[in-house]
Amino acid sequence: MAISRPKIPSELRRRVLIEAGHRCAIPTCKSTPVEIAHIIPWAKVRKHEFKNLIALCPTCHTRFDDPHGPIDRKAMRQYKANLNPLLSISLANRDGQANMLAAYQELRARLAEWLPIEVEYVAIKSRLSSSREKIEKIKSDAVDKLAWAIGAVADFQSAWGESEVSDLAGAIFYHVADWCDEVESAPFPLPEDLKQRDILEEISEASADLHLMVCEELSM
Ligand SMILES: [Zn+2]
Repeated sequence: MAISRPKIPSELRRRVLIEAGHRCAIPTCKSTPVEIAHIIPWAKVRKHEFKNLIALCPTCHTRFDDPHGPIDRKAMRQYKANLNPLLSISLANRDGQANMLAAYQELRARLAEWLPIEVEYVAIKSRLSSSREKIEKIKSDAVDKLAWAIGAVADFQSAWGESEVSDLAGAIFYHVADWCDEVESAPFPLPEDLKQRDILEEISEASADLHLMVCEELSM
């Protein structure tokens, strides 16, 4: 069956290559030369879009395309999100976009400071051997970082206005904040169900989506 598949435009191709530094996007591989792979197969989406393209070496490309292979689509989206697509975007002469990008980078930085402290808070509050002093100390660190995260979310939403991107950032933030409230109000030591939750895993897909949406919006 002949399916006519247009070539990937050279400008788009260049952005995908720059995003990965002209090396295989799997961080432990980084081989050259590279090919451009579709994360969701071309046959399904029938278009070439930046968010769906990634640079892979022929070996990783083959391993990814093999349905019984070790690399699934969720993992590949995570590899894509871990690249820095923002590097490949030129923001020159685009009103407001520098602000939007800065607000996003600030949000990422604040979440990256806050989340590990909360995770540690849970670990400490889960251990019977933890002293009250130790718990109070980590709790006050967590509150401090939460305040910064709240500020970053507010700034992000004001920079991005009413949009899907703002909504998603808010949803991720409140998902984590609700979990923090539960941890905060739960007795010591924390009950098993709270201990077992993996908050970073819970928000990983939404965070990857947010990242790719931000990249897409800024490159329009
Ligand atoms: Zn590779």
